[in-house]
Amino acid sequence: MSIGSTEVAAFQMVLGEKEAELTHAMRARGGITIEKSADQMDEIQYASERDLAILSVDRDSGLLRQVRAALARIADGEFGTCADCESSIGTKRLAALPWAQRCIRCQEAADQSHQDDAELADGTAA
Ligand SMILES: [Zn+2]
Repeated sequence: MSIGSTEVAAFQMVLGEKEAELTHAMRARGGITIEKSADQMDEIQYASERDLAILSVDRDSGLLRQVRAALARIADGEFGTCADCESSIGTKRLAALPWAQRCIRCQEAADQSHQDDAELADGTAA
């Protein structure tokens, strides 16, 4: 464990805020109404907006899951440890991505083997 308790406390705060933010954003989007229009072009426009909204809900809920998992790892005292090789993830990587579950090497390997599980916030996911 290379991360001090002060840093873990700071990450816990960041993660807590992120969780609140995502929860709030998803709740706000839950109120999306599907508007009906006589104009067909508008219909298409609304449909694509709706699809985009659904996409971002998917993305946010995936991220929310990762943020909650990270909070659980803090509670378990496992925060900052790679889920695959159990080496320390590194504070730099965690600062950029507090919910990272793997060290950069294992993450790259995981991204290559199954793209679907890629970390969404990395910007590498489809
Ligand atoms: Zn690893």
